[in-house]
Amino acid sequence: MKPFWWWTQEQIDYYNELGEFFKSVAKEEGRTRYTREFPFHIFEEVGKKGFLGAAIPKEYGGLGLGATGSCMLAEQSHFISPGLGRIIVGDMNGGLRQIVEKGTEEQKKKFLPGIAAGETGAVVITEVSAGTDAAGIALTAEKKGGKYILNGRKRFIVGAGVADRFFIYARTSNDPEMIKKHKHLTAFIVKASEVKGITTEKINEILGFENVQNGSLIFDNVEIDEADRIGEEGEGFKIMMQGLNFERTNIAATTIGWHRAMLNYIIPYSERRIQFGRPTIDQKPNQDKITHILERLIFLRDTVYVTAKKWDLEENIIIDASVIKAKCAELALESAREATQVMGGDGINNFYPIKNIYEVAKTEHIAGGTVEACELTIYRQIFKQMAEDIVWPRRVIDEVAGAPVPDYSPVEKKVPCDAKNLLDVLAENYRVNQGLDMTIADIAAYVDGSDEDILKTIDELVAAGDAVAHVNKKTGVADMARASYAGLSKAHPNEYYQYWQPFIDADPRRH
Ligand SMILES: Cc1cc2nc3c(=O)[nH]c(=O)nc-3n(C[C@H](O)[C@H](O)[C@H](O)COP(=O)(O)OP(=O)(O)OC[C@H]3O[C@@H](n4cnc5c(N)ncnc54)[C@H](O)[C@@H]3O)c2cc1C
Repeated sequence: MKPFWWWTQEQIDYYNELGEFFKSVAKEEGRTRYTREFPFHIFEEVGKKGFLGAAIPKEYGGLGLGATGSCMLAEQSHFISPGLGRIIVGDMNGGLRQIVEKGTEEQKKKFLPGIAAGETGAVVITEVSAGTDAAGIALTAEKKGGKYILNGRKRFIVGAGVADRFFIYARTSNDPEMIKKHKHLTAFIVKASEVKGITTEKINEILGFENVQNGSLIFDNVEIDEADRIGEEGEGFKIMMQGLNFERTNIAATTIGWHRAMLNYIIPYSERRIQFGRPTIDQKPNQDKITHILERLIFLRDTVYVTAKKWDLEENIIIDASVIKAKCAELALESAREATQVMGGDGINNFYPIKNIYEVAKTEHIAGGTVEACELTIYRQIFKQMAEDIVWPRRVIDEVAGAPVPDYSPVEKKVPCDAKNLLDVLAENYRVNQGLDMTIADIAAYVDGSDEDILKTIDELVAAGDAVAHVNKKTGVADMARASYAGLSKAHPNEYYQYWQPFIDADPRRH
């Protein structure tokens, strides 16, 4: 597809080279989906070409193409293979970003060139007790002298059985205070071939993972040098979240490759498939589905590469990474559902990769944090990051319409904080936000007084039966208030609350 205007020539060349390379290995990759063998040879070739170094700075043996480069690799590898591409994304994330961001100079020199050269790796978080609740990790790392001794088990690990380099998260504290602050986990990197005690427990048969292993690992008294701890002790959860943001961005990029692959199959296929004497592409329902997939391709390619650019500009991408992961996973499954339908029975058998895309699209609702986990992040972060953007406007009665309208201008003159004025404010709020309480901040926009003054005055009004306070269950203190019916009548005669839009003036039912 066409490059974006902000891609550098180096990035464009890399994108094109990837496209050619993955086409050249498509035949071999297709074979391994039948034989169910891990495509070691292709992986070696990817390593030799240095493709895995996209997001690694040049001084550590990488290509220095940033998150944009790693998304290109995710996109182009998934155009050819949902399976091979997955291990490339898994491997790239098997500690890459975490080392770039948190590794010492020595650790960067020790591990990054190997990742760039294609060593197989894996990111090792999940356990029986730790799925969405990733902080629930039970695998322990006990410090003894200059070593940590790891004991426990992990599951659902992409690359189990074939990867040598593991980026592991382990529990280093059981102190309830540390657990509460998420400071009980620590990150390590280790090569299985250089230590004793890491074995594969089992390989799981994950939907769509035809030529890629996913399985469980056992850690039995595995000794890791303190020098291979990434970040400080207790920083593991923070590092994990940073790593997941990168993984989510790359997972989202994989869906671009699938969309292109789907279109490459379903359009030529339906041009050649004759039913009722004409190609099935002439059927409106098939045209609609092709259009939907095209729409999604454009939408998600734009959003993914804008997010990658934000990474490269070192902007905060916590919300973006979760948004694109969740949305791209959902859109990809919807597209795969439509693509299989366009191809009928051929869409759901192994002859064509559409079935495989359909299956792997489902797994991406779960891998790298479920869609729901991403949405939890989005919900929490929005309150932190968009607090200034989410503004409840002041509302006033418009003198012409006689009805409530928003008014973003500040209150011209605040009134002194006494019971009469505050009741007036609450009564006015009834006119414009009939069913809503006012927060202390809402009230403070109208009255001149500290929060304490306002709370005291609310207490007075409540005691007089003129207001109803909402008491926050956590703090035991009132945080909102509204006028009671008695308070409304005390503040103004009933006519004050009546307003009639001009078109109702002639209505006899008015009185
Ligand atoms: C294909 C694939 C590859 C994977 N690769 C790796 C890997 O390489 N390394 C690794 O460490 N792990 C890997 N995983 C594991 C993956 O990260 C976990 O499966 C995932 O985090 C969900 O955990 P779980 O399966 O235990 O589901 P659970 O946590 O048991 O969740 C079950 C359901 O409950 C929902 N749920 C749970 N808690 C909440 C909540 N608080 N709010 C809303 N909904 C909630 C979930 O969204 C989900 O729908 C992989 C998984 C898959 C499927």
